Formats: sequence, C-alpha cells, structure tokens
Amino acid sequence: MAQEDVFKKLVAHCKEYGFVFPSSEIYDGLGAVYDYGQHGVELKNNIKKYWWDSMVLLHENVVGIDSAIFMHPTIWKASGHVDAFNDPLIDNKDSKKRYRADVLIEEYLGKLEDKAQKEVDKARKRFGESFDEQMFRQTNGRVQEIMSQHDAVHTRFAKALNDADFEEIRQIIIDCEIVCPISGTKNWTDVRQFNLMFSTEMGSTSDGALKVYLRPETAQGIFVNYLNVQKTGRMKIPFGIAQIGKAFRNEIVARQFIFRMREFEQMEMQFFVRPGSELDWFKTWKATRLSWHKALGFGDENYRFHEHEKLAHYANAAVDIEYRFPFGFKEVEGIHSRTNFDLSQHQQFSGKKIQYFDPELNESYVPYVVETSIGVDRMFLQIVSAAYCEEELVSEGKKDTRVVLKFPAALAPVKLAVLPLVKKDGLPEKAREIINSLKFDFNCQYDEKDSIGKRYRRQDAIGTPFCVTVDHQTPEDNTVTIRYRDTMLQERVPIDQLHDIISEKVSLKSLFAKIV
Ligand code: ATP
Repeated sequence: MAQEDVFKKLVAHCKEYGFVFPSSEIYDGLGAVYDYGQHGVELKNNIKKYWWDSMVLLHENVVGIDSAIFMHPTIWKASGHVDAFNDPLIDNKDSKKRYRADVLIEEYLGKLEDKAQKEVDKARKRFGESFDEQMFRQTNGRVQEIMSQHDAVHTRFAKALNDADFEEIRQIIIDCEIVCPISGTKNWTDVRQFNLMFSTEMGSTSDGALKVYLRPETAQGIFVNYLNVQKTGRMKIPFGIAQIGKAFRNEIVARQFIFRMREFEQMEMQFFVRPGSELDWFKTWKATRLSWHKALGFGDENYRFHEHEKLAHYANAAVDIEYRFPFGFKEVEGIHSRTNFDLSQHQQFSGKKIQYFDPELNESYVPYVVETSIGVDRMFLQIVSAAYCEEELVSEGKKDTRVVLKFPAALAPVKLAVLPLVKKDGLPEKAREIINSLKFDFNCQYDEKDSIGKRYRRQDAIGTPFCVTVDHQTPEDNTVTIRYRDTMLQERVPIDQLHDIISEKVSLKSLFAKIV
C-alpha cells in the first residue's frame, strides 16, 4: 500500500477509535487545531510521563517547573521572537495556496536524496551480499550526478537562509523548477516574512490594555525562572530545568494532521552549563535523547540526525532527531546549544543580574545552555505511525485481517481488557472482581458485548497489550486466559498472578534501562 494511503488510514483510525478529533468539529473544525479523545489523552499522558521521568527521576540534577503561558511582553522582545520569529512564505498565484519557501526547497532536496537512494537500492539487489554502498555512491555516475545537483542547491539554500536573502530563495525555487502541487504552475509571488506569534490583549480597557503573546515555546518560561530555581533549589551547575506545556504558533502551512499544529504541547529541558563546556554537553544530550527514542523499539534505522542549514539567532550548534514518518524523514525533536544568548538578553532587558557564582572557578558568569525540545503531539504521531499495523490472518481456515496498534506496553492507553466469555453464569461478576483488584494500578476496560473475537479486535485497534478472558473454568479454579496482543498467543494463569505479570510488562523501567 502507498505510504500516503497508510497515512490517510491512520488519521481515520485515530478518529474512529477516540484518539484524535478535529477541534470544533460540529462547526466544521478550526485549521490545524485538534482535540484528543478518550484513548488519545491516555497515550499523551503516558508519553509525557516517559519523558518527564526520564528527565527528572533519572537525573538528580534536573528539576521541573510549570510556568504560565502569559508572560511579560518584554520577554519576547528580549528573546528575539518579536523581531525574528518569522518564516519565509510564498504564494502560488494560480492556486492561491501559500507555502513555506524553505520547506518547498527542503522537499525538493529530499526528492533528490530519494532518487539517489533508489539507485543504491537497485544496485544492492543486483550485487547482493558483496555490495559496498560507500564505494557505489563514490563511483556510480548517475548517483554522482544527482548528488552534485543536490549539493549545489543545498549550498545556495544554506547561504540564502543565513543571509536572509529572500530574492535568492525565490530564485532557487524558480531555478529548480519547483511547481505548486495544486496548480502545477511556477507562477510564484515574492517571498515574504511572516511572524508566527499569536497576540492578544490583557486588561479591561483598550487604552490601558497590554499586548501580550501566547508563548511560541516553553523555553522562555524556564529562562526567566532560572534564578528562582537555582537559588531555591540550591542547584549547582551543570543542572537542568524541565517543563511540559502548551505553545502556540500561527503556522503558515498547517498540514499533515497533528504534525504541524497552531496549538501544541512541548517538552523542553534547558541544561545550564559552564561556558566552554556546552559543545560536550550538546554531544551528551544528543546521544541520550536518541537512545530515549530508540528504546521504544520501533527500529534504529528509522531515526537519523539532521544538522541545521541555518542556525537560529541564539545557537552555536543545532541538530534535529528525525523519524521516518509515512511521508518521509521529519523532525521530531531539536537539540540546540543556545549559548548564553537568552540569559544575557534577559539580564540586559530586565536590568537584573542573572549569573552563577562558580565556587570551583571562584568566578561569576552567565551560564551557557543546551536545550532538548520535543513536541508531545509530534511524538504522539510518531508513535501511532510506528505502531499502526494491518495484518493478514487465517482464523479457523478463513482469511481475516486485523488492525493493531503495537504500542510499547508502557505507553498503551489501556493496559488490559477483562472479558467475560458470556454475560451470565456469574462470569461478569468475576470479571468485575478482577477489575476491582487491578484498577488502582492499571487502566482497565470491561467489555462483554459481541463475540470474544470481535472484542479482541476492538482491543487490538486501540493497542491494549493484554486481554484477560473469564470463562467457565474460572469460578472453579480461579484461573483466566491472558491473550497477548502481538503474538495473539494465550496462556492460562491464576488470577492472583495477573498483577505481577502485567506490572512487569507495563513498567517504564524496562525502557529507562535502555537509555544511555
Ligand atoms: P519546524 O522546522 O518543523 O517548524 P521547529 O524547528 O521550528 O520545527 P522547534 O522550534 O525546534 O521546531 O520546536 C521543537 C519541537 O516542537 C519540534 O521538534 C516539534 O516536535 C515541536 N513543534 C514545533 N512546532 C510545532 C507545531 N507547529 N506543531 C506541533 N509540534 C511542533
């Protein structure tokens, strides 16, 4: 099945099974804003717990905060967001559709990379075991031709972005003959800058009202609390502050479901370090964060690092962790070495001294910062994309299919379903008893409707790792069958062992053990 079809099915599945709904749906929705349903919110909470605990429990020197969304507007002046939080946009005059000019070029470069990769894959098939990819890439004429075209555009693009040269960005689009996917034409407007911050007014009269912004990132709430946390927590450098919270960006092009939203949630950690040590910490956090992703078991080959073409105004190193979504490799997380830019700016704009006295060096300095920043919603989409599976089965001699979400058990919204085989003979009561003994530790569902096969399918579709069936043998010997989602194997176990079996499998501990 084409990857685009898989993605369409996945979006429909998220709606049908209570994961994600379009916002304000009965009023025909609101662009790029979504609501999470009964299963979505559980998955989202589990993702947040996986991140939060990996930061705050696993690191003695990382603590959390929860800062307000509204902040003093000067913060956004100091951080550079009022002047520089822009995206370059371009319109196609025929379709009247608006695009991000940088994204059009990045997609063009991605297509060239795919083209070269296809040549490599073809050759690998031809040569089999003895294939040497590096050698092939260095010597094959076709691949060389594609990659030199790629590198030339890439160099021009990186320079244009760094120089904020919008005429050149437009010229690259023209020279590469990039067409609008809707109209198919090259009839482009000029490239313009567009500020992504939402603003509103705080206060009762329009005269005295203060223009405030909805935060476009959670990081600034951490920076402006640096002194509070350092002093009250008696934190010693290096140390980190973690935060999970909503962020808002008036994205020019909001497509691909919850990949790019106008209201979303971020999980950010700012790590304060001694000046000069930031690039070592950058390397350390790069490795730690990649292993956090890989621990989920979705295949190491589906992740890669992407170095930034253009460093943000505050950064001296930046990398993205990309995942292979059904629509290609895309950013899930950014890791940035933000220098001492933000704290220095706040020091200057607020007039307050924001420094650290380092007892080992016997001197004061403005700490440097390494940031890890990941979107909860994008991580949600990554996990659902990776977990979504359509399987052909043969049951009782007949062909069948099932859709199953193979979530890591620790993240699954519902941990177990308890299913009485029939609605009588005391089996429902027994099932309720089991739920009552387990519900304080695990999210359980009770289901007695339809055949047992249909009930298994419903649980597969929401990714429940364990189905516990209560049958006529249960009242006799206090045993049940436990059916495992991925293998569909069943085993008979005593009821009093259920807690231990399940808790071992759904614990986050097994994931944490894999993080470096
Ligand atoms: P992009 O290049 O995709 O616009 P970005 O580089 O601007 O993203 P950052 O500012 O580094 O993103 O934000 C950190 C993380 O926040 C991203 O890696 C992503 O997971 C998430 N994020 C950013 N913008 C959005 C959005 N509009 N919708 C959902 N998640 C987002």
